[in-house]
Amino acid sequence: MTAPAPAPVSLFNTLTRRVEPLVPLAPPRVTLYTCGPTVWNYAHIGNFRTFLFEDLLRRWLEHTGYDVFHIMNLTDVDDRTIKTARQAGKRLVEHTAPFTKAFFEDRDYLRIKPAHVYTPATAYMPQMIALVSKLLERGVAYKGDDGSVYFAIAKFPTYGRLSQLDKREIKVGARVASDEYAKGDPSDFALWKKADAADEAVGAAWDAPFGRGRPGWHLECSAMSLAEIAKCCRVQTLDIHAGGIDLIFPHHENEIAQSEGATGQTFARHWVHGEFLNVRGTKMSKRHGNFLTARDLREQGVDAAAVRLLFFQTHYRQPVDFSDDALAGAAEGVKRLGEFRERLEREARNDRRDEPLKNISSLVETDVHVALNDDLNAPRAIAALFDFVRVANRELDQRGGGATFALKALDRLMEVFDVLPTQRAVDPALAGWVEERVAARNQARKSKDFKAADAIRAELVARGVEIEDTPTGTKWRLG
Ligand code: AMP
Ligand code: ZN
Repeated sequence: MTAPAPAPVSLFNTLTRRVEPLVPLAPPRVTLYTCGPTVWNYAHIGNFRTFLFEDLLRRWLEHTGYDVFHIMNLTDVDDRTIKTARQAGKRLVEHTAPFTKAFFEDRDYLRIKPAHVYTPATAYMPQMIALVSKLLERGVAYKGDDGSVYFAIAKFPTYGRLSQLDKREIKVGARVASDEYAKGDPSDFALWKKADAADEAVGAAWDAPFGRGRPGWHLECSAMSLAEIAKCCRVQTLDIHAGGIDLIFPHHENEIAQSEGATGQTFARHWVHGEFLNVRGTKMSKRHGNFLTARDLREQGVDAAAVRLLFFQTHYRQPVDFSDDALAGAAEGVKRLGEFRERLEREARNDRRDEPLKNISSLVETDVHVALNDDLNAPRAIAALFDFVRVANRELDQRGGGATFALKALDRLMEVFDVLPTQRAVDPALAGWVEERVAARNQARKSKDFKAADAIRAELVARGVEIEDTPTGTKWRLG
C-alpha cells in the first residue's frame, strides 16, 4: 500500500501573516523564485540555511506531485561586488566568476537540488533596462537630479504591505542610492544608478536610454524573475517567492513595487521567509565575523547529511543556533539512519512476513506527510522518522518481518530529506585487499583459529575497516 493522498500543502504567507494553503496559478506547476547569493565572496552556512530550507520546500512540493519550476538568481553586480572587485584590483566578472563556481560546488556538497535556471544579473541588462523604461513611462519612476533613476513610492499606494509599514512611521520623499538602508525608513529607492568612476573602473556600467549606469539590487530580481516566468510559463505572477527574513524589507517590498508597478499584476502569491542561523544568539554574517563557510565544513570532514539534519531539526521560521555540539548530535543521528538502512537491507534479503514493519512504515509516511503539509514542519517529521527507527529496530530485534516495506518507505523519505551518510568512495585496490583478508579471517574462524582471526580483524581495523558478522556473511565498510 502506498501512502494516502496528501492534504494540500499549507505555508505561512508573509503577506497575510497566516498559514495558508498553497494555491498555484496553474497546478500541478509551481513557479518558485528564490533570492540567491551575492557572489562577492564565499557563501556562509547562514546563507545555506536559507537555501536548504528552500531545498526542502522544493523537494516536498515535488514529492507531493507538483511540477516545480525553480529560478535562482546570482547577484553578480551590486554595491558589495563592485566594492570588493575594486579592492581586489579586478574586473567585476573576473572577481565574481570564482565565487559563482564555488557556490555551485558548495551547493552540490550540501546536496541541494540545482535550480532549473540560474540568472546572473549581468546577463539580464536588456530586461532590466526595459523594466526601468516601463516604470518611467508609467510615471512611477523619475530621474533624479543626480542622474540616477528612482522609484516614487508615493505613486504606489500599496507600498509597505509585505513588511506592514503602515504599522510604522512612513517617511516618504528622501532618496536612497545604496542597496541596503535603515530598516523601517522607506524612501524612494534607486532603480538605476548613474555610473561613477568606481563602476567604470571594474566594468560595471551599461548604456541605457536614461543614462549610463548600473542596476540597483532590487531591480535585478524583478527583471529576472519576470523574464523567466514569461519565458517558461507565459505568466507575470510567481506562485512562491522565498528568501531569508532579512529580505522582507526593503528588498522584497521593493521587488513588489517595481514588478507590480510595471505589470499591474500580483507579483507573487505566496511569500515564504526563513529565519536566521545564529551563533550564540547573533546572526551569522561576514560583517560580524562569526561565519563558517560550507567549504570550511567540508575540509573538516563534516558529512553534509549532518548539516542538513541539523537544520531540518528546527522549523524554518525559528532561529537555529549553530554549535559544534549540535552538529555532532546531528552526525550521530545520521549514523543511526545509515545503520538502520543497512540493517533493513540485510533483513529484506530473507523477509518472509510483511508485518509488523509494513504497518509501521505506512504510519511514518503519513506522519511525515501531515507534518510537512503543515507549514513544512520538518522537526515534527524528523521526530516521526526517528520514532520509526526506534520502533522498527525493536520489532526487528524480536524477529518481526516487513523490512522490504520499511526499506522502500525509508528511501522515499530520503528523497525528501536526503540525510543518509555520504558513501565514501572505496579504492578498488583497497576493496580487493579487504575481500581477501575477510575471506582469510573466515577461513581461520572455520578452522577455529581464533587468534589468527582476531589478528586479521585488528589488521582491518588499523586500515579503517569495520566488520560485522551477520547470518548472511561478513559485512565490511570504511568507518
Ligand atoms: P546574500 O548573499 O547576502 O544576498 O544572501 C543570500 C541569502 O542568505 C538571502 O536569502 C539571505 O536572507 C540569507 N541569509 C543571510 N544571512 C543569513 C543567516 N545568518 N541565516 C539565514 N539566512 C541568511
Ligand atoms: Zn531578490
